[in-house]
Amino acid sequence: MEDNTMSNATQLLHSIPVDPLTGAISVPIYQTSTFVQEAPGVNKGYDYARSNNPTRATVEDIIAKLEKGSTGIAFSSGLAAIDAVIKLLKTGDEIVAVDDIYGGAFRLFAQVYEKFGITVKYVDTTNNENVFNAVNAQTKLIWLETPTNPTLKISDIAAIAKIAKANNCLLCVDNTFASPALQNPLVLGADLVVHSATKYLGGHSDLIAGIVVTKDAALGAKVKFLQNACGAILSPFDSWLLIRGIETLHLRVKQHCINAQVIAEYLQNHPLVDKVHYPGLPSHPNHEIAKKQSKGFGGIVSFSLKEDTEAAAVSFVTSTKYFLLAESLGGIKSLVSHPANMTHKSIPAATRRLNGVKDSLIRLSVGLEEVEDLVSDLEQAFEKLKSGIALQPLTVSKERSTTVCSTSE
Ligand SMILES: *Cc1c(COP(=O)(O)O)cnc(C)c1O
Repeated sequence: MEDNTMSNATQLLHSIPVDPLTGAISVPIYQTSTFVQEAPGVNKGYDYARSNNPTRATVEDIIAKLEKGSTGIAFSSGLAAIDAVIKLLKTGDEIVAVDDIYGGAFRLFAQVYEKFGITVKYVDTTNNENVFNAVNAQTKLIWLETPTNPTLKISDIAAIAKIAKANNCLLCVDNTFASPALQNPLVLGADLVVHSATKYLGGHSDLIAGIVVTKDAALGAKVKFLQNACGAILSPFDSWLLIRGIETLHLRVKQHCINAQVIAEYLQNHPLVDKVHYPGLPSHPNHEIAKKQSKGFGGIVSFSLKEDTEAAAVSFVTSTKYFLLAESLGGIKSLVSHPANMTHKSIPAATRRLNGVKDSLIRLSVGLEEVEDLVSDLEQAFEKLKSGIALQPLTVSKERSTTVCSTSE
């Protein structure tokens, strides 16, 4: 793991331009729909704000540099970004995707794109051979997430990029969990990166946004065309808010990693814990690949309980006081969730368990509180679990069980 966090942070901060018109050190919010032209077609590079907007262009440029790509495109959500990448395909094309895929991407592929004749093969991408065997002449896109949600599986981006190249198909990596502070898939050979900027890039749980970055400009132009044709742009204010969040990305992610490592080690030694999933633990099956391709192991930790029941997990997640019970991740405040009852509820129990999402699996998005306070919070939740005096989980599970599709995060 090379440690060039400092120089990257410096590069980032100085890639955020000072306003050339006024000297404003904060990027101006161009809250406008159109731009006055000197003569028909003669303008200052902007004509209509769906096509382009200076505030959005600034965040797109910042994130393209962060991911070391050529073109950044900012969308109104992470799913809109994923949607734009899938629109590069046509009827008859196939996707080979990570089996532990983000639920919203699964829903988009299965319930929207399948009816247009785009099919998806899901494989365990932690084994490169599975990817190699799944790719055929129709495969036009390989879709990875690494680390995955919620079991933090790691795939070898560079090895899978070689398979993509040899088979003339694109490799897209959803880099939401790692963030560009830790991992740059384009440098490892991917063609596209997508982000739910809602998570670590924004970092403050205050906006919904998505990003696509492409390695080469020609592909970037295609995605940009699709965005303008379909319309899912990030607003000027949210673009500004995203820049504001990204300014502290390196600092935040560094601390998320430090806190998460402490918590993963604490959990691993806890008598009530069955298994801890965290790529920073030497016991993680893909620890070596994680070390090779990322600068750190991120802020998400998940674990199952020895008492492997939903009731035990629900007791735990309703007992913590600093870890707030909510979907989403990557914000400054710590969050806890119970995938079996929340993000993964729409997946049949047998399939879910087969993918390693046990009934008692608990996911933590480790925030930026003092880590000692977070450990004590977990400790008191374990104590309550032991003595069986946790809050009754009725309201939580009843509300969630009426949700039609809970892969919303
Ligand atoms: C949240 C998330 C998304 C979807 O992003 P939205 O901003 O909620 O649309 C996609 N991929 C991953 C890995 C996510 O965690």
